[in-house]
Amino acid sequence: MSLEDLEASCLQCQRCDLAKERKHVVVSRGQPSARLMVIGEAPGADEDAQGRPFVGRSGRLLDASLTEVGLDQEDDIYICNLIKCRPPGNRRPTPVELKACRPWLDRQILEVNPEVLLILGATASASLLESRTPISRLRGQWTQWKGRFVMPSFHPSYLLRNPSREPGKPRSLFIADLTQVKDALNGVVSGLTPDSSDR
Ligand code: SF4
Repeated sequence: MSLEDLEASCLQCQRCDLAKERKHVVVSRGQPSARLMVIGEAPGADEDAQGRPFVGRSGRLLDASLTEVGLDQEDDIYICNLIKCRPPGNRRPTPVELKACRPWLDRQILEVNPEVLLILGATASASLLESRTPISRLRGQWTQWKGRFVMPSFHPSYLLRNPSREPGKPRSLFIADLTQVKDALNGVVSGLTPDSSDR
């Protein structure tokens, strides 16, 4: 299945109850052959209305932060979410919804085949990495998943609630994490060599 076919099929998905109230299925934005895939939690109201991920305030903060470290979101990056339809009231996705939607994400990762995954927020990190470690401890630490570099970090919505740029605060830590991602894409990562044969 090509990425185009995958996205067309995803737009018709009725696998879970989130299909009932959505305005749009929110599949992705960015480049289909990107070396970096950014994975958030789920669409919010703006994303549901427009059918594109990270287009509200969180998305603007994400884009500005990526630009700040020199990552061009139109050239280098494919952006998507763990869950493709908006949970009512922006609640966390349930385990049933996560399980139902996961094959779409797994297929996206296979088709885009990025070298680096940037995972935003506790829910996405816990689900993808199957970890109970708090995001405050996971973030900033390289790990691997199926032969790819993985960098967990804060979700931009959390940064909107914690806007200080002082050193050690979440916003500056987020920039530090993105800088590590940029360095990894430039081949400047030591001590970690993902085995691409796992992909
Ligand atoms: S959230 Fe995922 S599994 Fe549920 S209906 Fe939307 S695309 Fe399908």
